[in-house]
Amino acid sequence: MQFGFSAGIVVYTYVDGERAFLMLKRTQGWLDLPKGHIEKGEDSRSAAIRETEEETGLRLSTDLYFKDEVSYWYNKNSEKIKKMNIFYLAKLPANAKIRISYEHEGYEWVKMDGNTKLKIYDNWKEMLKRASHYIDMIERMGKVNGEYALLPSTQKGWQLSSNFVPGEGPLNAKIMVIGQAPGRFEDEQHRPFVGMAGKLLDNLLRKAGLRREKVYITSIVQFFPPENRVPTDEEAEICMPYLKRQIEIIKPKIIVLLGNFAAKNVAGIEEVMRNHGKLIKSREYGCYLYITVHPAAAVRIKKNTPILEEDFTNLKELIKDY
Ligand code: URA
Repeated sequence: MQFGFSAGIVVYTYVDGERAFLMLKRTQGWLDLPKGHIEKGEDSRSAAIRETEEETGLRLSTDLYFKDEVSYWYNKNSEKIKKMNIFYLAKLPANAKIRISYEHEGYEWVKMDGNTKLKIYDNWKEMLKRASHYIDMIERMGKVNGEYALLPSTQKGWQLSSNFVPGEGPLNAKIMVIGQAPGRFEDEQHRPFVGMAGKLLDNLLRKAGLRREKVYITSIVQFFPPENRVPTDEEAEICMPYLKRQIEIIKPKIIVLLGNFAAKNVAGIEEVMRNHGKLIKSREYGCYLYITVHPAAAVRIKKNTPILEEDFTNLKELIKDY
């Protein structure tokens, strides 16, 4: 048995207001997605970008988190080959020009409904459905975050920073991690948990067998509070509806709540030190809530580190089925 590895990009745009995917017409008559071989030493994302450029003339930036796979078997010179195709996702940039390579006769923008009639294998169709669902999530999250980011200019008496720090991670993450509010580094970089507490969080996630890129990371309040103060209850109240909409899009299996402020605002539990390591089923959020200490508390007070390490080590067991 042999293996073949390809990588490509699901490229999408809107045709007459409807979402459509780029398909290349092979000279043999069938339709294909832009894809090709992963060269020795090349990573799959670079291969997908290179192959798509070679086949369409488009040099695309891919979504950071979407990654899907379609595998199938075929025979070549009576040898069985398992072909694995890895796909990334990219939106066609405005005014982009497609230049088809000699290998193809042309291209088509295929809508999802028309797709069902197309002669492509079911597993390709399933993958396009998953991609389409992911695009729905990207668009819904874009809408929520777009509205959230406007709060500093629309909310009277706004006291927090005007820099919005959106959550980060796959929109289909099983695990979501929620902290208190961004710190100064996060405010500067517009990214959550990139300071000292963030470094510690990355290490703790490893203890739970997770990589940062597999988890959706955010905070209750997604704007830096001046002097790094604890956000007020009023500020939490203004921000919580946006967080709830974000959770509703991601639909995590477990939400890890870091520290008192997160535990209070999501789980209604005030004392983390008495409740850390507890898993609580939440009807409101449709998932489990897992309470632990905020990593910033361990950056400040070293005796909190073993508590966090133990909680994240136990988390590994709790999430092993996800
Ligand atoms: N602490 C938080 O609660 N959130 C961040 O993004 C960074 C530090």
